[in-house]
Formats: sequence, structure tokens, C-alpha cells
Amino acid sequence: MLPPQPAPRRITVSVDEQVLAISWQDGHESVYPLDALRRACPCAGCMGGHDRMGELPDPEIFRLPSLQRWERPKVEAVGSYAIRITWDDGHDAGIHTWKRLRAICPCGDCAG
Ligand SMILES: [Zn+2]
Ligand SMILES: [Zn+2]
Repeated sequence: MLPPQPAPRRITVSVDEQVLAISWQDGHESVYPLDALRRACPCAGCMGGHDRMGELPDPEIFRLPSLQRWERPKVEAVGSYAIRITWDDGHDAGIHTWKRLRAICPCGDCAG
């Protein structure tokens, strides 16, 4: 049996701080800068093709400074496995699954 996939207990967006924060069921906390999350969009267009959609973004994107402020990110649940983020620029094609969000957690423990 596969280990259970941790799911978020709480997802909060702070436009003031420009972060999306996730409290996971296993107690882990992830804080994603909004601009990095926009760059980490998992859709085929942003990843460079359908065959690359399963790949993770370059972890470098979380080390780059934020270039843009996002004032109205809209977060919606997609089933019980993901969120869709609609960005100020209208882009909403990316489905951020729990699995992928956890894999790209930029905290010191996860990113090393
Ligand atoms: Zn995209
Ligand atoms: Zn982490």
C-alpha cells in the first residue's frame, strides 16, 4: 500500500506578503512566494509541452527575486486533490496538485 498523500489542512493567500501558505495534515508548513508559484505553473503551455507536464519546475525559480506583484490571485479547489489558481493576467490553466505542491515546497527542510 502506498503511503497516504498528505493533503492541505488549510490554504491561505496573503496579498500583503505575496505568499500562498499551506498547512499540511502532517503538520508541515509550506510558504510559496506568489511570483514563484506563477512561474511554477504546471500547465502544458508554461511547462513547454504536454509531455513535460509531469515534470517539476526548476527549483531555481524559488530562489529568484519576485519580479511582479499579484494583487488578485483566486484559489479554487479542484476535486479533493488540487487547486486551480487564477492569476491577475487571466491565466488559469495550471492545476496545482497536492503532490506537486508538496514536491516543490521551498522550505529549508524540503529544498535543502
Ligand atoms: Zn500555465
Ligand atoms: Zn517543506
